[in-house]
Amino acid sequence: MTSAIPTEPIGSIPRPPELLQAVRDHAAGKTSLHTLEGAYDDAIKKTIRQFEATGSPIITDGEQSKPSFATYPVAGGRNVIESGGLVVTFSDRHVRALPKLTSGPFRYQQYASDYVKKARGFTSLPLKQAVISASLLSTFYPEKSIQGYSREAFTEDLIQEVTKDISGSLRAGAEVVQVDFTEAPLARKLDPGGKLLKEFVAINNEVFSRLKPGERERVGVHVCKGGDWDSTHSGEVDYAEVLPEVFELKVPRFYFAIAGEADPDRTLKLLADYVEGRRKIFVGVTNPISTEQETPEVVERRVIKAAKFIDLKNLGTTDDCGFAPFGDDSSTSRELAFAKIRARVDGTRRAEKKLR
Ligand SMILES: [Zn+2]
Repeated sequence: MTSAIPTEPIGSIPRPPELLQAVRDHAAGKTSLHTLEGAYDDAIKKTIRQFEATGSPIITDGEQSKPSFATYPVAGGRNVIESGGLVVTFSDRHVRALPKLTSGPFRYQQYASDYVKKARGFTSLPLKQAVISASLLSTFYPEKSIQGYSREAFTEDLIQEVTKDISGSLRAGAEVVQVDFTEAPLARKLDPGGKLLKEFVAINNEVFSRLKPGERERVGVHVCKGGDWDSTHSGEVDYAEVLPEVFELKVPRFYFAIAGEADPDRTLKLLADYVEGRRKIFVGVTNPISTEQETPEVVERRVIKAAKFIDLKNLGTTDDCGFAPFGDDSSTSRELAFAKIRARVDGTRRAEKKLR
C-alpha cells in the first residue's frame, strides 16, 4: 500500500479583468486605496472558491494582490527605483526590469504572512504560500555600492527579512512555504561559469539555516525557466548545469518545471540521481505557458512516467510554474488555468490508483 502522491500548485492565477482595471484606475489616481483593496478581496474570494472547486488538496490565494512574485516586498518603497535593476529578457524578446535599491536600509513593505492571514479567512483548506528568494532580492543592490550602506550590511538585512517572510507565513497558517528560485537557471545563463549560481545557493542556505528544524520541514524551492506572457527567460539552460547546485539547498521539498521541457524524460533521469531519504521531488505535469489543455489522461501518463525515475515515496506533482507570476500577465485565461489544475489533480489521482 502506497501513500497518496501529494499534488500542489505553484501559486499565481491570472487576475480577473475587473481587478486589472481596478489596479490601473488606482495607479492613475482615479480611485482610493480602499476601493482597490475591495477589488483585491473580491478577486481573492473568487479565486479561492474556484481553487476549492478543482479538488486540489492544498490551494493558494492565486497571488491576486501581489504585484509580482518577485517585487511584492518592495512595492511602494521609497528607497527603490521600480525598474532600475536587473533586466531579464524572455524568449519572445519582451523584457522585465527588476527594482533597484537607492539607499539603506532594506526593509519589506509587505510580508507574505499578510496574504496568508487574508486567505485564511476565506477557506478552511490547507494553504500554500510562495515567497521570493533572498537570491533574487540580492540583485536589487546596485553594482556601484550605496554610500553609507555596504553590500554586507544589505545582505544581513536581506537575510533577516527573508527569514521573517518565511517564518511569518508559516506562523500565519501556511501549511507549506515555497521559495521561488526561478533565477537558478537564469544565473547559469548570465554566468555560464557557475559562480553566480553558487552565490545564490549560498545566500538562500543562509536563510534556511536560520529557520527552526520544524519550519524547514515545511519549506520547498521552486525552480523553472520562467513563465511570463507565455515565454521563458532561460529555456536554453540545461538542467544538468543547475541541479547539482540546487540540491545543495537545505530544504526537503523541490518543485520543478518538467512538462514544458523539450525532453522531459532526460530531466526525470537527471532527477533520479537526487532521490534520497524523505526528500520530495514535485514534478511539473501541466505547462502554464502552453495554450494546450492537458487532460487527466495526459497527466496520468506523465505521473506514471515520472514514477519510473522517482520512487513513489519521494514523488509529488505540481504545475510547471505559476499561471501569472507578474500581475499584469493576461496571456492565459483563468478558465484554462483552473482546467489545467483540475487535470493535474485528477490525473495524479488516476495515476496513484494504477501505481498502487
Ligand atoms: Zn516558475
